[in-house]
Order: sequence, then C-alpha cells, then structure tokens
Amino acid sequence: METNEKTLLIDKKYDCPICEKQLHAKTVKSNAARFVDTMADLRPIHSNIVVTKYDAVCCPHCGYAALAKNFGSPTATQRKLIREKIQTNYKSHEEAECDFYTVETAISRMKMALLCTITKEGKDSEIGNICLKISWLYQDLADEVPEDDPNAAARKEHYLKEADHAAMNAYERLTNARMHESFPIAGMNETTLDYLLAYFAYKKGEHQTAMQLLSGVVTSRSVTPRLKDKALELKDLISQAK
Ligand SMILES: [Zn+2]
Repeated sequence: METNEKTLLIDKKYDCPICEKQLHAKTVKSNAARFVDTMADLRPIHSNIVVTKYDAVCCPHCGYAALAKNFGSPTATQRKLIREKIQTNYKSHEEAECDFYTVETAISRMKMALLCTITKEGKDSEIGNICLKISWLYQDLADEVPEDDPNAAARKEHYLKEADHAAMNAYERLTNARMHESFPIAGMNETTLDYLLAYFAYKKGEHQTAMQLLSGVVTSRSVTPRLKDKALELKDLISQAK
C-alpha cells in the first residue's frame, strides 16, 4: 500500500484561524481512493489507502487542530478558548516533511483535533465524529499488525480495546447530538446515524435499544439497499445473541 500512497495525495494549504500562519496538510486526491466496502461500524475500506488518516488538519505553529471541514470556522469564542488553553502551552515547530501519514501519526493528529474540539466546547456531533474516526483508525492499526510479529495477538487486542473505548465515546456524543442537533449529524442522515447508534448499542449489550433503532431503519423510506442489508444482518446477530 505504502509505495503508491504518495501519488494519491496532495499537500493542501490552509490559513490557521488561530495564529494566522500558513500550514499544509496532506489530503487524498478526489477519486483516487478505490472503495471496497464499509464495515459494520461504517468504517470505510479502500484497497489502496486508509482515507481517514487524512481527515484531521493540525497547525504546527500553535497546536490548533480540527477535522478538515471544521478547521476554518471556529467562532470568536472558540478562537479565544483555543488561544488561551492550547496555543499558550504549545511548542511551535517546523512542518515535518513526509510522503504520507502512518496510522500512528494519524491517530495523534486526530487526538489533537479531539483535544482542541473539547477545549473549544465544540458540538457533540463534531466530538462524536472525531471519536468515531479514532475508533476506525485503531482498527486500521490492528489490521496492519504483521502476522509474524511475536506479540501480534497482544498488540491487536490492545488496539481493538482502544477502538472500543473510542467507539463508546462516539456512542455517547452522537446519542446526545441525535437529541439536540439537526441533521446531517457528523455527515450522516437520520437513517444512517440510527443504524450506527444501533450497532454501538449492540456492542454495549443494549439489545433492546438496538432493536428499536433498527426497526426504524429497515422501515424508513429513505434507507439505501446497502444500509438495509447491514441493518438486517445486525438484527440477525442480535437475535442470535439473545
Ligand atoms: Zn496556528
């Protein structure tokens, strides 16, 4: 995967809304990623790249970070919070040169975005979306553990535990967002979010909540065939678990 990854990326220029300096972040060229499938928790799988690695933008000068789509738009109050609580404690550094981001790098970038989004008192949907992406990245990290690593089993278990932890944070935040915000939430319409919440409820052992959400999903007029299949699969899984 890594030999070609560089050719799938471009360096995108951003103006930091906090320190007003210029920075770059790698981003996946449009139509460069070859889609394969989405997993039960909607983690996207592409054959040639892990796209989620490129979803966070981080300023090396002041420490401000966010998801790319939210990077340029903090409110005046949020800018003040970031300046007071992040920028003042941050050691500015030169932009690191690299051909692509490793999954580890991507996780630390995403965690910086999480810290900044909590600090700026961002919406539950924004925080939940970042937690979801951290969960996906830990699963990508688990997938990358080489089979011949003598500690493969322990390393995988550790990464998957981190993934579950992040997923449960996403569950809590996105459930709150579902109650108080309007759609789209974290880029999802109502049916898609309800499916994801049902999956998290199932993971948490809240089978009744999961079943209630799923019956709404499968009877929804806006459900896509692909999502309906996923919802039916999850229903089967829960019935078996009972
Ligand atoms: Zn900055």
